[in-house]
This record gives sequence, C-alpha cells and structure tokens, in this order.
Amino acid sequence: MSANDINVSSKFSAKKKFGQNFLTSPDIPRKIATSCGADENIGVLEIGPGKGILTAELAKVSRKVVAVEIDTELEPYLTENLSSYNNIEIIYGDILEFDLKEIIKQKFGSMDVCVCANLPYYITTPILMKLLESGVRLISITVMVQKEVADRLSAKPGSAEYGAITAVVNYYSDIKKLFKVPAGCFSPVPKVDSAVIKLTLPPENPVIPKNEELFLNIIKAAFAQRRKTIVNNIFTLFKGSITKEQIANDLFELGFSPDIRGEKLGIREFCIIADSYFEKSF
Ligand code: SAM
Repeated sequence: MSANDINVSSKFSAKKKFGQNFLTSPDIPRKIATSCGADENIGVLEIGPGKGILTAELAKVSRKVVAVEIDTELEPYLTENLSSYNNIEIIYGDILEFDLKEIIKQKFGSMDVCVCANLPYYITTPILMKLLESGVRLISITVMVQKEVADRLSAKPGSAEYGAITAVVNYYSDIKKLFKVPAGCFSPVPKVDSAVIKLTLPPENPVIPKNEELFLNIIKAAFAQRRKTIVNNIFTLFKGSITKEQIANDLFELGFSPDIRGEKLGIREFCIIADSYFEKSF
C-alpha cells in the first residue's frame, strides 16, 4: 500500500477543536518519514495520525510505529487505511494526559525511539515542552508546525522572533528547519503555510546548569515582559527579595550590561546568570 491508497477524500468533517488539517499530498508524508531518521532499529511515536497518511509512510521505514490519536471518530478510517500493516499500534487518548516515560517503556522496551508528527497547531508548544521536559530519551523529534512557529523556534538571539521557547528548545536540542509545506497541501486548507523542523537531542545538553529549575525559570522570566530589561524581570522573579541595584550590579560583574534584554541572550549566558544566583542563594 502507498500513501496514494489512503482514503483522504472521505466525508469525515474535520474538527477545528482538534486542529485537524489533514495532509492530502502523498509526497509530503513520504518526505517527512524519510527525513525523521527512523529505521529498522528505531521506533516511532506519532502524535495525531488523523486518517493515517503519515503513519503508513512511517511504517515503511520503521519496525514499530505507535500513534496516539485523540479523536475516536477517526478509528474506522485508521483501521481501514492501515489494515495492511502489522507494525502499527494506535492508542486513543490525549497525548498531554499520557505518562510518556511509561508508554515508551511499555511499547518500545529497549528500542531507540524518535517522534514524528504533523502536530495539531493549537497545542504545538505544550506538546514540544512535554516531549523535551519529560526526561524521555528520544533520538529526535521531527514535526510539522506553522511556518511562523518554525521561524520562532529556530531564531537566533537578537532577532525579533527569539523568545523563551527558542532558548528552552535550544537547551534540549539542535534544531533544523527541513522544508516548507504550502497551505494547499492540507484539507481543510489552513490560513498559513507550514514547515517541518527536526530537533535532534544530543546525549548531553549543550550547557549543564547547576540548578535546571532556576535556569529555566530565569529564561522564562527574562521574556515574561519583553519590553522590560532583564534586571526588572529578574526582580519580579525573585519577588523583590534582591534590589534592582543589586541585580544590576550582579549582572555587571558577570560582564552584562544592566540594560540588556532577554532576547539578546543565548543559553550559555542564561546559564552563567542562573549559576551565579544558585551559588549566591544556596
Ligand atoms: N497526521 C495526520 C495528517 O498529517 O494528515 C493528521 C494531522 S492533524 C494536523 C493533527 C491530528 O492530531 C488530528 O488527527 C487530531 O485529531 C490529533 N490530535 C489533536 N489533539 C490531540 C491530542 N491532544 N492528542 C493526540 N492527538 C491529537
């Protein structure tokens, strides 16, 4: 069976509340599946198989595909479209409610695992954060997201698109934009174009903060109020327990201008700042 055999032109009415924009062109799922890095030895966790157009392509490159779908009304389509594959398991439920560590251990055992998905856009960030912060050892995460989200996630410090999510994603992974996908490749046609990105998770994060929670909190705080300087944002994070003058002085001693804003700082700089506050307070 090829992606051409997948029944995508059925009467199923797509649900906006589940972010259902189904791929209609068979070429795109094939391209995503071959670029996600799955092979005979690497299993794939797919989020939101829809009618199975990408799932089928993933099953051709990997020994085992486990797909989590929230919408049980898609079950007849998935059953019919994927009937000729014996290496696919569909689980019905909300990916955000699952214990990822448990499910990956249960379904893949000692196999290496990557994630591949055309993500529902209304929960792109929570899904990515869950995958990255869960502590599950994934090889990579290859996902289709809105083009502007892809631009934001791969932005460099100092650019307008760079934000807390960019810094956090950079902490956990190396991100690459793979290719753009025009809105016309989906049904229903979304308002914006999409892009496929690949996050490769190294065995060790590129920086090792002394306290990860404080490091992530400082990143999030630095962007909490974009128009404020990092001094003001750190002041708010520490609920006024240190004066703004002291924070400005601390930053100056670390070699940063007190006027600096979060968007100019990369993860190495955030790590230096977080480590210095960790040392001061513990
Ligand atoms: N993979 C299919 C394709 O490419 O045509 C469908 C992609 S569609 C953009 C997103 C899919 O994610 C839908 O099938 C939707 O029902 C499913 N979905 C939405 N929210 C979900 C959630 N919280 N957990 C699991 N699946 C979800």
